[in-house]
Amino acid sequence: MANTAFQPRVFSGIQPSGGLTLGNYLGALKRFADMQNEGNFETIYCMVDLHAITVWQDPETLKRNTRELCAGFIASGVDPEKSILFNQSQVPEHAQLAWIFNTVARMGWLNRMTQFKDKAGKNRENASVGLFAYPSLMAADILIYHATHVPVGDDQKQHLELTRDIAAKFNHDYGVDFFPITEPVIEGAATRVMSLRDGSKKMSKSDPSDMSRINMTDDADAIAGKLRKARTDPDALPSEVKGLDDRPEARNLINIYAAFADMTPEQVLADVGGKQFSEFKPMLAELAVSKLSPISSEMSRLMQDQDEIDKILRRGAERAREITEPILAKTYDIVGMVR
Ligand code: ATP
Ligand code: MG
Repeated sequence: MANTAFQPRVFSGIQPSGGLTLGNYLGALKRFADMQNEGNFETIYCMVDLHAITVWQDPETLKRNTRELCAGFIASGVDPEKSILFNQSQVPEHAQLAWIFNTVARMGWLNRMTQFKDKAGKNRENASVGLFAYPSLMAADILIYHATHVPVGDDQKQHLELTRDIAAKFNHDYGVDFFPITEPVIEGAATRVMSLRDGSKKMSKSDPSDMSRINMTDDADAIAGKLRKARTDPDALPSEVKGLDDRPEARNLINIYAAFADMTPEQVLADVGGKQFSEFKPMLAELAVSKLSPISSEMSRLMQDQDEIDKILRRGAERAREITEPILAKTYDIVGMVR
């Protein structure tokens, strides 16, 4: 089904489950700002605090992380005037629609979700029900705006397919054409930034090892040190992309360089092919520091005025509810709730 009936609208979110990483920046934030600035879409960006508590969060730390995440959005170029920027729990229609979607999604669909398997680990019996139901809330986050496009990292592809399945089943079960079939937008050189310690694992803000990731608040020395110690193989860099086959760590560093420089991996290798990592890593560190340090200093400046951050979030939530209230009311009517 085409989405021609729906106005072009972007929604995406990030969990305040820890400090922001390079993966969040290159896979999400940088692209959020780009999509806002392209001007083809209305853009709506959210700090998904209700998702974060699907694994235990210390309450004071969660508040701090939510405000710091807001500062991270703004410092990365998301403008709270141009985009709608808010935290999820201030817009109750997300959770209300998620309940409806819990009745639409099937156990078998959620049982296949790899994020749940990864996060629950060996102790599935002890994982929260919320962690299992995470994808229905994510579908609600998106569909409560009738969003047509969702920029995300590659790890969220499966959840977006589930969002499409939920929209299609709702439309089918109730005989309506109410929810759009949303398009994932997974583009650029860094759709999956990998751990610096293990090229087979994605970089995550919740990874216990701080050496596995670059945090957006790391200073120049920390960034250079982590890249110097990043795991690599002993060979020189290839001149062509096919030379990165079976070299996940090398591929990761090239992809990071390409994303920062707005180049393709092919273009980067044309320049650096033949170099040893001992020469390439300092080049990458210099590029990373030059892009990240203005963002992290802007984040700490914004964090000095928390009242201003809270005001931005409240205002964003009010604007969001102008969209979500009528869509929830219509959904309740379709489902048969007396109002
Ligand atoms: P957590 O470990 O708590 O799940 P996270 O770092 O995965 O945290 P999320 O809030 O789950 O961050 O994801 C926010 C956005 O960042 C999503 O669009 C996700 O796809 C993207 N993202 C997360 N990690 C990476 C990564 N390593 N590379 C590219 N994009 C990423
Ligand atoms: Mg994640």
